Amino acid sequence: MNTAKRQSQGVPSRCWCGRGIVIFYSKTDENPYRRFYRCEIGAQRKMENHLFKWVDEALLDEIRRVEAMQGKIAEQIEDLKQSLKKTVEEEVRKQKNSLELGCLGTILWIFGRLRSQE
Ligand SMILES: [Zn+2]
Repeated sequence: MNTAKRQSQGVPSRCWCGRGIVIFYSKTDENPYRRFYRCEIGAQRKMENHLFKWVDEALLDEIRRVEAMQGKIAEQIEDLKQSLKKTVEEEVRKQKNSLELGCLGTILWIFGRLRSQE
């Protein structure tokens, strides 16, 4: 099994072992009262590799993740707008051509009728 430190994206909802996440407060001098996410069994099994993530870092991570997603969605909307515009323009061109052909056909038909009456 891979024992390298794993990463979770944004705010974690589960540990990679499948268990739930609990928020604890740090009691160390370096990070007093700093909140962190911890796997619910990871807190008891300190020798195993379970999820640990600072809450403030997870929130920043989540904001960056959402921003990146919004950027992608904005690009997709722009692509859709361009493709829709192209489709509409092509349809309008086709309709215009068939209308012109229709008019020409009608004129030719009238000429044909007039000529046959002569
Ligand atoms: Zn776990």
